[in-house]
Amino acid sequence: MTIAQVIVDVPSLGTDKVFDYRIPKKWDGMIQPGMRVAVPFGPRSIQGFVIRLIDHTDIGKIKDIIQPLDLTPVLNEELLQLGDWMARETISYKVSVFHAMLPVAMKAKYEKMIRKKDGAPLLLEELLKNKQEISWKEAEKRNLLPALYKEIQSGNAEVIYFVKDRARKKLKRVVEPIVRKDEMEEMLQALPSNAFNQKKLVYHLLKSNQGMIEAADLAKKAEVPASTIKALIKKGVLSEHMVEEYRDPYEHKNFERTSPLPLTKEQQAAMKPILHSIEHQSHETFLLYGVTGSGKTEVYLQAIQEVIKQGKEAIVLVPEIALTPQMVERFKGRFGSDVAVLHSRLSIGEQYDEWRKIQKKEVKVVVGARSAVFAPFEHLGIIIIDEEHESSYKQEEIPRYHAREVAIKRGEYHRCPVILGSATPSLESFARAQKGVYHLLTLSKRMNDRGMPPVSVVDMREELRGGNRSMFSTELFEKIKDRLQKEEQTVLFLNRRGHSTFIMCRDCGYVMQCPHCDISMTYHRSSSEMKCHYCGFQTGVPTECPECSSNHIRYFGMGTQKVEEELVKLLPEARIVRMDVDTTTRKGAHERILEHFQSGKADILLGTQMIAKGLDFPNITLVGVLSADTMLHLPDFRAAEKTFQLLTQVSGRAGRHELLGEVVVQTYTPEHYSIQLAAMQDYQRFYNEEMSMRKIGSYPPFYYLALVTVIHEDLLQAVTVTEKISNFLKSNVSREAILLGPVASPIPKINNRYRYQCLIKYKREPNLFSALRKILEHYNPQASRDGLSITIDINPYNMM
Ligand code: ADP
Ligand code: ZN
Ligand code: ZN
Repeated sequence: MTIAQVIVDVPSLGTDKVFDYRIPKKWDGMIQPGMRVAVPFGPRSIQGFVIRLIDHTDIGKIKDIIQPLDLTPVLNEELLQLGDWMARETISYKVSVFHAMLPVAMKAKYEKMIRKKDGAPLLLEELLKNKQEISWKEAEKRNLLPALYKEIQSGNAEVIYFVKDRARKKLKRVVEPIVRKDEMEEMLQALPSNAFNQKKLVYHLLKSNQGMIEAADLAKKAEVPASTIKALIKKGVLSEHMVEEYRDPYEHKNFERTSPLPLTKEQQAAMKPILHSIEHQSHETFLLYGVTGSGKTEVYLQAIQEVIKQGKEAIVLVPEIALTPQMVERFKGRFGSDVAVLHSRLSIGEQYDEWRKIQKKEVKVVVGARSAVFAPFEHLGIIIIDEEHESSYKQEEIPRYHAREVAIKRGEYHRCPVILGSATPSLESFARAQKGVYHLLTLSKRMNDRGMPPVSVVDMREELRGGNRSMFSTELFEKIKDRLQKEEQTVLFLNRRGHSTFIMCRDCGYVMQCPHCDISMTYHRSSSEMKCHYCGFQTGVPTECPECSSNHIRYFGMGTQKVEEELVKLLPEARIVRMDVDTTTRKGAHERILEHFQSGKADILLGTQMIAKGLDFPNITLVGVLSADTMLHLPDFRAAEKTFQLLTQVSGRAGRHELLGEVVVQTYTPEHYSIQLAAMQDYQRFYNEEMSMRKIGSYPPFYYLALVTVIHEDLLQAVTVTEKISNFLKSNVSREAILLGPVASPIPKINNRYRYQCLIKYKREPNLFSALRKILEHYNPQASRDGLSITIDINPYNMM
């Protein structure tokens, strides 16, 4: 008897327990670890993941598996193990971890088909009754699954998911000749002479050696009406079916092939230990620290080339917003169709297509955002994380994992190098490199010895004192005008979207707040509404103050929309494009705006942090940061680090090419070390300063953090539960741990639900994780009963 151990998909049950199910005779040998199965659970049938096969169980009344949901495993042995580890480290349930590893398509509504591959033997054709494919449902009904399983095993057929992705058309009707040539010739003779079009079509099929083709195209080519094609389908000459439309998002792009550049001395020095690690199959984590433009990407490309030469595969992670066509181009340009691309701006179907290329071993390299770290490669030779300091590598929903940790874990398993690249490494990584945990590699010079652009810091308080009330300092404004005249491009950076950051009553000081969240509303001029950026609530701006009925309602602060308006007023001749969340919601908008700017159709690009990344246009000679301190005042211990990184990043956008560039940073706190040191491009000093701040505050990298947030619509409940959790944790950690809270979260209410939290700072706490898990399990019944939610975030990046 074979028994499958199954992790069932019942999130509300919140159980990680493994359930044993018997594999019925007819599925014997078919069900393997990593496949999904349907199993009975109480009165219901639910989905689960098979994680192991055993041949003995102590369970008395064991139930049968209902049926497999896959015919090939969707998770391999390594990913199953990785899932165990991730669930432990992130205090999540295995089911959610497994789901995070798979493309969304496998969660969405889909239809499964089993399709014959080219050159498959006759037996299969008989099974499918001369069709190319059969739906899973029908195969099930006709009891064909076991036989088809064998065909899949021997490579004659495959399972395909058709995602029901309404937004995009992805199925097309194709036809294909299914009779032999001599039969067609015979037919040509036999057709009555008035069947002129049919004759014409058969003749065309014969002559052109036609394979699979879209029905409409065939009609056009053969110059026959669509009805003729239908007639030949009826006669069994053509078979008709639906196929997935080719959804390669880069299909229409031609990537010019590039070849490896001779490396500079510094690049060679960095390359050597990486190659050593590849050759000797020894895992090592490298921190490749090099300013923007110092040639990191070229090092990645050549390391990958070596990996491919060894018959292995590579994963390259890039922050979501940096995954621009330019970035993709660098990899596709070098490795062509060996590259798959994965990110969330692709449709669900496109993501699934790219994932499938990886699973079917059709590609060698994947370039993608965070979740690409789970690419199901089986012979990984390298994992690269570019801009490793980016907070988007941390997933902010369950499972709250960090791609860096996952990458290192996979690197250990595959005994291959992991490269973390950055011009401004995270404090955690740089500290590890200092301690020798990571191997530090440095690229200190920009290519062609082009220096970093000069940065001038403008004190906006001085501007105000001098009578300049506009959002542009005299210096910045003069420089913009100068660039306009020289027909060079300017990038203006602002960390706020919308029009105004808050709306206040001049008489009583009341600030318009979202009625559902404890946060001020942002005015959006284009829709004449105020919006809450947390819950999405929007409403008209009141004409009088809800507190004192005064009608002196004013807009304060500035967002991208307001800056745009102001620019239009001040520089009517300038051509301006704006890039922020509001202008890039539509698919492809991001790319279109960049292309527009790159081709010189605009003089000024204005945007939020989206534009800080990946812009590399020769004509940009001025970068302006309108207000460098917006991030500095957030209640987040990483505020200074993020400010430094962002300013350095933005400055790197100017003068990357022949033309010299310069940077103007406007700020109200010019004396702050993160602004000063970013202007001087002095990472090392910033690191030292910031490390001493972290030490004083007992923050990472000196301490680890665990953040527990309790959310409930009843304030009292939120407080009481947080208190109980706090007390429980106190009795479960050592005296070295620091426990803060319960306190209200920095945003105490979102979407009408109150938020309380407690923060644990610790160094070594062997009992902490099991205590946290107990908390989750203890409150789970209440969570599914009355909407209590408890989130546990290990090494949080979002403190709000
Ligand atoms: P980074 O990734 O550190 O920003 P890149 O790899 O993009 O740096 O390199 C910056 C520029 O220098 C690119 O245009 C790249 O093609 C070029 N470059 C990189 N390495 C070399 C080299 N060894 N010789 C000549 N040019 C190079
Ligand atoms: Zn008022
Ligand atoms: Zn809100």
